[in-house]
Amino acid sequence: MATHIKQDDLIQSVADALQYISYYHSPDFIAAMARAWELEQSPAAKDAIRQILVNSRLCAEGHRPICQDTGIVTVFCKVGMDVRWDATLTLDEMINEGVRRAYNLPENRLRASIVSDPAFTRRNTKDNTPAVIHTELVPGDQVEIAVAAKGGGSENKAKLGMLNPSDSIVDFICEVVPKMGAGWCPPGVLGIGIGGTAEKAMVLAKEALMQPIDIAAVRARGPRDAIEKLRLEILDRVNALGVGAQGLGGLTTVLDIKILDYPTHAASLPIAIIPNCAATRHAHFHLDGSGPAKLTPPDLALWPKLDYEPSAEALRVDLDTLTRAQVQSWRPGQRILLSGKMLTGRDAAHKRICDLLESGKPLPDGLDFHNRVIYYVGPVDPVGNEVVGPAGPTTATRMDKFTETMLSKAGLIAMVGKAERGAEAVGVIRKHQSAYLMAVGGAAYLVSKAIRGSRVVAFPELGMEAVYEFEVKDMPVTVAVDARGESVHETGPRLWRAKIAGIPVATA
Ligand code: SF4
Repeated sequence: MATHIKQDDLIQSVADALQYISYYHSPDFIAAMARAWELEQSPAAKDAIRQILVNSRLCAEGHRPICQDTGIVTVFCKVGMDVRWDATLTLDEMINEGVRRAYNLPENRLRASIVSDPAFTRRNTKDNTPAVIHTELVPGDQVEIAVAAKGGGSENKAKLGMLNPSDSIVDFICEVVPKMGAGWCPPGVLGIGIGGTAEKAMVLAKEALMQPIDIAAVRARGPRDAIEKLRLEILDRVNALGVGAQGLGGLTTVLDIKILDYPTHAASLPIAIIPNCAATRHAHFHLDGSGPAKLTPPDLALWPKLDYEPSAEALRVDLDTLTRAQVQSWRPGQRILLSGKMLTGRDAAHKRICDLLESGKPLPDGLDFHNRVIYYVGPVDPVGNEVVGPAGPTTATRMDKFTETMLSKAGLIAMVGKAERGAEAVGVIRKHQSAYLMAVGGAAYLVSKAIRGSRVVAFPELGMEAVYEFEVKDMPVTVAVDARGESVHETGPRLWRAKIAGIPVATA
């Protein structure tokens, strides 16, 4: 007899799963990240992993998002052929209703990041719909669902290679990973899709990321097949690149390599790579007609007992009296604690500001960047008595093309974001004797604890992309590019690549 699944059971299960993954890392991810922290020998990378772990625990305790980017929802749905639906909506409509319900939950409202009409008006859909849904009909009378919330920073680093059959898969991946930079917030997981066609390989890579992290167990018992052997080889070769946490140089760049494969054309070897970041989020449930799925909260004892206290050696900087001379005295890798007022802005605000400045028009009343620092961020809306929701940095390279105008015409003296800057932006920073500071991507709730005041200064219609003024107290950042143009994202991985080549290290 067919199983009957009710419409609201699916909707509520999707909504519950999305809320769950917004604040709970899975136990396998916590264990792998904790091990990476224990093994890490690079002080900068170790500090970044510590922030990620402390942030993770705070989110689990506070039921607030792990990252300000609460992701694009991706769903893998396996529907048993004997399932009957008590529903008036289609499967996709039910899933999207679950997304809507989750992202607008008043006690933990998640950031709506999805824009429609992507090539042109890019209007925010306001409820994070639609999800990207992959459905498969399978034997049986149940529905198996994997729900993921994928950050834009890591999704943007996806790569597809249509290799020749005789090419080396491992060499290709090791060529690609350094070019991905740190915008995908390592350490994380690489999903690899091998075979099929171009689009099949990409879907395989994404679906591979739905598997749990288990590489330490594979290493301990030895690989059982060629795919497991390949996973270990890729893991070791990628970690030997020395990219490290947040691209700062270190022992762990990837926590695991997950692979799915599929038969392919004799002339082809498609290889897809999709990274999952420090905010790796996916949940799995099945529906058998007995009601909505129940997800068990992880035990808080799974998190290592770590705290994050600002470093005593860090330089304390008062943003309200900051001068160009002070900015020029900062050195790469120096830890800084920022206090005082800074402005925020990301893609849409930068475009508007630069369009106004380039056409000789004034900026909106009250918006003045002279001698100010900008933080690249699009925060989650606050709930309860929060000043701001989770507010971690966004990928700085997206602002590279605006940097010359922001430094020369707007009067900015320093920037805060995540990951590296492109070569051109580093040149602009050197030319204007400015500096770029990095905060840890994937530590958004922890960062938000340093924000004591927030007000919208310009472009309120842009929502999370508006320009805010934040008042911060001891916000931890690291000098990533100094006024001479030296970048820790160049020097750190180079140093650690050489060190790893010279020392025997275990990274999983
Ligand atoms: S951890 Fe980094 S890549 Fe992942 S969602 Fe957050 S900002 Fe984006």
